[in-house]
Amino acid sequence: MIDRSFLSWPFFEDVHRQLADVVEAWAVANTGHIDHENTDDACRGLVAKLGEAGLLRHTAVDPDATSKLDVRSLCIIRETLARHDGLADFAFAMQGLGTGALSLFGTDAQKQFWLTKTRAGKALSAFALSEPQSGSDVANLELSAVRDGDGFVLNGEKTWISNGGIADVYTVFARTGEGEGAKGISAFIVPADTPGLIIAERLEVIAPHPLARLVFDNCRIPASALVGAPGQGFRIAMSVLDVFRSTVAAAALGFARRALDEAVSRANGRNLFGAPMSDLQMVQGHIADMAVDIDAAALLVYRAAWLKDSGAERVSREAAMAKLYATDRAQSVIDKAVQIHGGDGVRKGSVVERLYREIRALRIYEGASDVQKIIIARHELARG
Ligand SMILES: Cc1cc2nc3c(=O)[nH]c(=O)nc-3n(C[C@H](O)[C@H](O)[C@H](O)COP(=O)(O)OP(=O)(O)OC[C@H]3O[C@@H](n4cnc5c(N)ncnc54)[C@H](O)[C@@H]3O)c2cc1C
Repeated sequence: MIDRSFLSWPFFEDVHRQLADVVEAWAVANTGHIDHENTDDACRGLVAKLGEAGLLRHTAVDPDATSKLDVRSLCIIRETLARHDGLADFAFAMQGLGTGALSLFGTDAQKQFWLTKTRAGKALSAFALSEPQSGSDVANLELSAVRDGDGFVLNGEKTWISNGGIADVYTVFARTGEGEGAKGISAFIVPADTPGLIIAERLEVIAPHPLARLVFDNCRIPASALVGAPGQGFRIAMSVLDVFRSTVAAAALGFARRALDEAVSRANGRNLFGAPMSDLQMVQGHIADMAVDIDAAALLVYRAAWLKDSGAERVSREAAMAKLYATDRAQSVIDKAVQIHGGDGVRKGSVVERLYREIRALRIYEGASDVQKIIIARHELARG
């Protein structure tokens, strides 16, 4: 039933095909009874289990060896988990996004201390970039980090922070003022129990996961909390997104594949007007559109991942194309699956109803679709 033919595409190596089998088996065994009402406990439990299974090793570099993030592996894992359960995908993804700055720019000591824990599922991480007045406009973020003796003092707010409230460590982007706008931001690693870091509000969204608004009130951190050089924070954030944007696209692909599988089962299993629903040519038209959208999205996702793994320093254009297209098409694929299910499609608790809620935020976070279009257009215009 599951279409795994894409794994024979030239983007992949045997190690990826083996990984796909391992994740699929893990997901079948572990995602059947996730409590979506209590997402804090569910996410803690998922991270612990993903860590025990060794899957979180893919979310960050190995502090004891020379290794790099393999984006194809991240995408295969996210696609597979998302096909089974959105919260499982979320729990996995945040371990990577929350520590991406350390994987790419951390000191040996920072990596050793934090990545050893997050890769084993013994600490949860979060990525704190957005603020109430600067989501898309991140270059104008306001949370301040002021030098004070041998450290910094943070004051301000972050919002929409996934894993906010349950994370053990936050990567926080703050204004240090080396230059204007994007040139005056630095990245810091801040343990959750640092005095002055306050979970001010828990936020609820249509597809629940742990999410919070954070307040930093004279939050004092040592100089060793700085990640990379002062003023490099914007570049660090964009480099992290350059890796993880393709993986958001992969999650959308997983949701879309599940929607197609559900639609096919429904069309084959239900009779309408005295014949299988799948005999109706308009239903066949929907199924064909869904299949084409999925394959086209998969080609963009794995092109971006392969390019990054092949050594490209930045793949902003390709990752933006993958995210823009895969999330937009997944929305359309899922909508068609809901339509094919009729009333059952909007019944609370049905798989396609869950997918319909889960897909929406992916067109907003890690750069809204409009922002991806700007990235793509700027690359095209610069060629001229
Ligand atoms: C479920 C969820 C989880 C999130 N998790 C995290 C997280 O873990 N860490 C984190 O830092 N942030 C997180 N975010 C925040 C997310 O990245 C921001 O919501 C997003 O960047 C949009 O910012 P905004 O909400 O402030 O909307 P705004 O910046 O106000 O944008 C609103 C809309 O304007 C449009 N728009 C924006 N810019 C342009 C433009 N230049 N041209 C044309 N149209 C434009 C887009 O359609 C956009 O959706 C999360 C958000 C959600 C919903």
